[in-house]
Amino acid sequence: MNIEQQVKKTIEKYHLIEKNDKVAVALSGGKDSTSVLYILHKLGYNVEGLMIDLHLGEWSKIHRKNMEKFCSELNIKLTIVDLKQELGMGICFIKSVLKQQKNLTGCTVCGIIKKWILNKWAKKLKADKIVTGHNLDDECQTVLMNFLKGNIYLGVNSTPATGIPNKGFVQRIKPLFFIPENEVRSYAKKMNFPILYEKCPCAIGTYRVETREWINFLTNKEKLNIVDNFQKTIPKLRRTYKTEIKNCKECGEPSKSDLCNACKIFQVLKNPKKS
Ligand code: AMP
Ligand code: ZN
Repeated sequence: MNIEQQVKKTIEKYHLIEKNDKVAVALSGGKDSTSVLYILHKLGYNVEGLMIDLHLGEWSKIHRKNMEKFCSELNIKLTIVDLKQELGMGICFIKSVLKQQKNLTGCTVCGIIKKWILNKWAKKLKADKIVTGHNLDDECQTVLMNFLKGNIYLGVNSTPATGIPNKGFVQRIKPLFFIPENEVRSYAKKMNFPILYEKCPCAIGTYRVETREWINFLTNKEKLNIVDNFQKTIPKLRRTYKTEIKNCKECGEPSKSDLCNACKIFQVLKNPKKS
């Protein structure tokens, strides 16, 4: 089965998209999200691109130009959210303040902010679903990282359709969930997509990068086994782990606590402690 057929199968098996859904594809400009946008468009879904310009120097500029060209050639609407307009600062500044004040490193801060913006903007665009380009390797890393952190409950929402619809969450779906990274790379290269293949320049020495390195020795079949087996345990985990979703008292976005993770970051940015 080729990758396009595999995506179709995952969408049908997990009822990821209805024919009338408006689908916002979260575009980083990398091989995964570009491929998934192309495939969903080819399959006839009502797709739009949604990209956050993080202001990571040349890297962001190139990705932005690539996606503008790609979407205009396919006649797909593209919305670009400029982080400096949205929050008044770029991601490097935000990460450096959080590192200094809270010792938060790695991709955590960036991940929280991206999720918050994507949910907010998907609602503005009246999208029914947000698609991300997470692939089998990403999911395998997540399962193993959560296990090594001693908290497999962190993966309770790691399914092809994540998030809870209603309650202000736009459901996030992952059509590449079962497709190995090297297959996505080969597909993107074969299709000659106008993209960069380098990883994010900020993702250095993080826990995820280390995990990625040591799962390299696993075969695709072994990665699939790990992800599949974890999927089988999720219904059991859900029976013992119930979370209440509230609305953040600052921004109104859905949150597990009174203040959402993004607003906790914004608080630190507004009131930096003097060192
Ligand atoms: P990452 O967390 O960088 O591995 O990206 C995972 C997924 O999040 C990608 O496949 C995209 O769907 C989405 N994503 C990452 N960066 C951006 C961005 N700058 N703008 C919009 N979506 C993004
Ligand atoms: Zn909030």
